[in-house]
Amino acid sequence: MTSPQAHLVSRRNFCLCCIGGAAAAATGGWLTPREAYAEARGLVSLIKDSAATSPIVTHRLRNNISVFEGSGGNIAVLTGPDGKVLIDAGIGVSRPQLTKALADLGNQPIAHLVNTHWHFDHADGNEWLHSAGARIIAHENTRKHLSNIQRVEDWDYNFLPSPRGAIPGEVFTTERKLKLNGSSIRLKYYGPAHTDSDISVTFAEANIVHVGDTFWNGIYPFIDYSTGGSIDGMIAASNANLAATTDDTIIIPGHGRPVSNKTELKEFRDMLVAVRDNVAKLKKQGKSRDETVAAKPTAAFDAKWGQFVIDPGYFTRLVYEGV
Ligand SMILES: [Zn+2]
Repeated sequence: MTSPQAHLVSRRNFCLCCIGGAAAAATGGWLTPREAYAEARGLVSLIKDSAATSPIVTHRLRNNISVFEGSGGNIAVLTGPDGKVLIDAGIGVSRPQLTKALADLGNQPIAHLVNTHWHFDHADGNEWLHSAGARIIAHENTRKHLSNIQRVEDWDYNFLPSPRGAIPGEVFTTERKLKLNGSSIRLKYYGPAHTDSDISVTFAEANIVHVGDTFWNGIYPFIDYSTGGSIDGMIAASNANLAATTDDTIIIPGHGRPVSNKTELKEFRDMLVAVRDNVAKLKKQGKSRDETVAAKPTAAFDAKWGQFVIDPGYFTRLVYEGV
């Protein structure tokens, strides 16, 4: 694992949110966020190429629900006589590996796909999954963002409208209930959080919830201000997640270790609140963004949370933008 390509392939949970780390891998060292943003355009292709060969790891949970790790965000799958139900689509180039991982769960056809939000590392696989038989359901803002040119300022990247087959055929505004494979499934809109299109997907009988990118397990999160996300929205979503779960709930985060629980979720919420308070204090004192980064308001958390792709400086800038 010496070439940048090999390094990228070795990383799990590739996502566009991973620009900083991918840039570092590609250059052999950390870039400043500005340099990383500048690299973003080429890196989107690089990440796609790398996902093409990333392995998919399957974690079997309970009640015929599994989670796939290795193609963008964590993907949940419910199997049964109504056909397979996927929560998030991963990156399109992972199709061969995902096809095999899906076949290993049984021979039912692919029937439904839910997008937790519009981001590329969760919806790029929409087109092939639709062509394989999936009806796509999402929040109305996911359809809006996938249908138009979408600029993400912090990635310095413009996404083109998705092909017709990738656009969700069914959308909702606040809540949608499904009954599939004997499972009561509830899709619920958070309001603005990581973006303005985030939903949770709860499997009632199994007591499992996929919370999308409102939770990054053990790593600093990306927050997409370009499409309505904010630090306060992330904190509100974390509080909603805590209120909606019990100690027995299996919580699937958008990124990070894919099988999580309320204890880890609470740690994440507490980290967000503490960093927000530290950054807000510095901003109130009149410190600029760069001065705030230099003051290291995340220092107490970096050893645990700063080891992945959103580094402490990047995360501080994201919080600063919203306080
Ligand atoms: Zn995301």
